[in-house]
Amino acid sequence: MEKKAIDATKEEIRCQSCNKKLAVGIYVLVEIKCPRCKTLNSFQKSNAKSVF
Ligand SMILES: [Zn+2]
Repeated sequence: MEKKAIDATKEEIRCQSCNKKLAVGIYVLVEIKCPRCKTLNSFQKSNAKSVF
């Protein structure tokens, strides 16, 4: 039950240059370098609630 709820929240992170799937998860701010085309992708959730 709980695992399924988490699965529904997860999002795919794809390279903005070559569209390679880089990661799947729940994120607020992430920087990830594509191993294929070496593009540094950064993603930020603007609607994320602050936990602090
Ligand atoms: Zn790429």
